Amino acid sequence: MSISVVLFTCDLRLHDHPPLRAALDGTEEVVPLFVRDRGVDASGFAVPNRLAFLADCLHDLDAGLRERGGRLVVRSGDLVEEVCKVAAEADADEVHMAADASAHAHRRERRLRRALEGEGVRLHVHDTVSTAVAPGAVAPAGSDHFAVFTPYFRRWSEQRLREPHGAPRAVRVPEGVGSESLPSRADLSGLSEGLAAGGEIAGRKSLATWLRSGVAAYEDRHDDLAGDATSRLSPHLHFGTLSPVELVHRARRAGGPGAEAFVRQLAWRDFHRQVLAARPAAADADYRTQHDRWRSEKAARADVEAWKEGRTGYPVVDAAMRQLRHEGWMHNRGRLLTASFLAKTLYVDWRVGARHFLDLLVDGDVANNQLNWQWMAGTGTDTRPNRVLNPVIQAKRYDPDGAYVRRWVPELAGLEGPSVHEPWKLRGLDRAAFDYPDPIVELYEGLARFKRARGRD
Ligand SMILES: Cc1cc2nc3c(=O)[nH]c(=O)nc-3n(C[C@H](O)[C@H](O)[C@H](O)COP(=O)(O)OP(=O)(O)OC[C@H]3O[C@@H](n4cnc5c(N)ncnc54)[C@H](O)[C@@H]3O)c2cc1C
Repeated sequence: MSISVVLFTCDLRLHDHPPLRAALDGTEEVVPLFVRDRGVDASGFAVPNRLAFLADCLHDLDAGLRERGGRLVVRSGDLVEEVCKVAAEADADEVHMAADASAHAHRRERRLRRALEGEGVRLHVHDTVSTAVAPGAVAPAGSDHFAVFTPYFRRWSEQRLREPHGAPRAVRVPEGVGSESLPSRADLSGLSEGLAAGGEIAGRKSLATWLRSGVAAYEDRHDDLAGDATSRLSPHLHFGTLSPVELVHRARRAGGPGAEAFVRQLAWRDFHRQVLAARPAAADADYRTQHDRWRSEKAARADVEAWKEGRTGYPVVDAAMRQLRHEGWMHNRGRLLTASFLAKTLYVDWRVGARHFLDLLVDGDVANNQLNWQWMAGTGTDTRPNRVLNPVIQAKRYDPDGAYVRRWVPELAGLEGPSVHEPWKLRGLDRAAFDYPDPIVELYEGLARFKRARGRD
């Protein structure tokens, strides 16, 4: 009897899953395995919002496998040791898993390969599970990755994607491989109140709704803060309950400018992954240093706290930061303008902001979070590293009626229309009626400090 182990990591689905497909095609029985990796816990990456979404995903995956005659085996500990143990218990010949881009994932893969080889077990690592185009599949002449998105996107668009696989009909799991009980959302505390539900079923439903009634308007409405007209598929892409290859195929089939703009965003996701795969240190170190000497922790402490709490006195910044806390998710335009505010207007190290985002974001992702923060801080791949987003101009452009601010900053709900973006313009008793802080920094002062720091005054 030939047996393989399929190690699920950030690919918690049954549809379009190349490792599972290869295992089912090549062996008679399969052990679907998820390891709660001690290394991830130790890195501080396992935070309540993502653990809750993960618990939903694991329940869903287990239920989907049971419908097909199988089940999910869950273990916790050192991932390499646990995979080896399970492979030995099942007497497996091979292990299949998805490729991943981070330094942690690379180290893990190397250790796992060595350990399994010692046991006579083959490791198969499959690409295009977590990306549509694999990191390194396209590269400019003379370099191992693209540092600029536009030429990357051109080459990315020319790639022929593999066809998506359907979900398997049956999965036979060998007897006698024990599992821990599945983690449960109910056991977790400190979750964002408005946290989305995880799992492949929820993901596929959201995708179907999105393709039917959201994507067509995406190009026109993706920046409309109050309209909330983006797909919100990011946590499903992060945990792999949806396949990027399938998404690109289905969006292209839907067609039109909205779908094209959506596919372009999916390419941004692959872009950041190929940067991280080639430069793993960029998760923490400047990709392109600007020789910043960020404000000290002590000097910036009060500003950072105000930013985290959504009490900077700039309503659109505060609205976005409160959305993050409440939902564990933030609109992309909000992410851009709050990141610009912290890294440029307040001149605080981008790593401080990136850490706070990772503490809360349900889609918190090393490649997307760290490299988007670097992009906005001007230490990453932005070709205009010194651009500063003015929060008042951004607010008037992307929340013209002020509805987004009134939704998240209820203290200001009594202010009508765009006046909600500039409460400091109120005078006397009118101003005193609102329990809302004055701006913690004047924008022109923040801009001058930033320009000085970057040697551009
Ligand atoms: C400072 C900052 C931090 C960010 N942190 C994360 C993060 O931790 N995890 C994360 O998934 N995204 C992150 N993003 C990118 C982007 O904001 C989110 O992917 C997007 O807001 C998710 O909402 P959506 O699914 O509705 O996106 P849609 O607009 O519907 O886009 C579809 C998908 O494309 C991808 N995508 C969209 N924009 C980007 C982008 N700029 N870079 C890479 N991929 C993109 C996402 O997977 C997204 O789900 C960050 C952006 C900024 C500016």
